Amino acid sequence: MKLSQPLADIYVPDGSAPADALARVTHLCVGAHQDDIEIMAYSGIADCLDQSGMAFGGVVVTNGAGSPRTGSYAEMTDNQMQMVRRDEQRSAAKLGGYAIQLQLAHPSASVKTPGHAGVAADLGGILRGCRPEVIYLHNPADKHDTHVAVFLRCLEALRMLPPACRPRRVFGCEVWRDLDWLIDSDKVALDAGRHPELAANLLRVFESQVSGGKRYDLASIGRRKAHATFHTSHATDHFQGLTWAIDLTPLVEDSTLPVGEFTRALVDRFRRDVEDRLARYF
Ligand SMILES: [Zn+2]
Repeated sequence: MKLSQPLADIYVPDGSAPADALARVTHLCVGAHQDDIEIMAYSGIADCLDQSGMAFGGVVVTNGAGSPRTGSYAEMTDNQMQMVRRDEQRSAAKLGGYAIQLQLAHPSASVKTPGHAGVAADLGGILRGCRPEVIYLHNPADKHDTHVAVFLRCLEALRMLPPACRPRRVFGCEVWRDLDWLIDSDKVALDAGRHPELAANLLRVFESQVSGGKRYDLASIGRRKAHATFHTSHATDHFQGLTWAIDLTPLVEDSTLPVGEFTRALVDRFRRDVEDRLARYF
């Protein structure tokens, strides 16, 4: 397997050949940064641990060079920080029983360039090397520029695949800005409440991020619990934790569907829901 960036990293926890490990993947997550996978696709990680014949694959597209740093990490150069974050991501892959972890190490600026050749080649190669049933991506209404850019590069790559090779389900998951605002019929509930200890440990391995006071571990678990409780007002909590997702499959099945139009329709349905409720009781 050939990746375009010299600092790209391929890690197979069980030591098998990377191409074989990738081919086994049934649940694939492509995130922008180290730790995004564990925040947004924990449901898929748990699915693969719980069911035989399923295997999780993680892809981190950027190099993590520009991440904030405090405490013992404060003096580190961008290069040193990249290595720290790479190793943290490897630890998560090992802990979560992933079949394979790929870190593409692209600079953020490349990811933000539509049709960037290196990003396209890497993502295309990965997608052709496996046949995942489910893919977890960032969602188009995320408020982090790099997340949205990575989502768009993934969509470009998925649309380049022959229709028969495209995944059956594609989810856009929450990281920066949650998806609770979607109307219920636009929400996909991903069960993120299983194996709570593992869920917490998978977030804590990103020590360089959480030790500086950005408690992504507590925040992610808290968000999952809040979603489970505030999901429906009359029922008791069915899940111990939920991650909300948008079903992006229509965007992958129909390469001509404009992503802006698709996303605006979600916002319009939310707006109508608010307006209609107000109008009913005004
Ligand atoms: Zn991120």
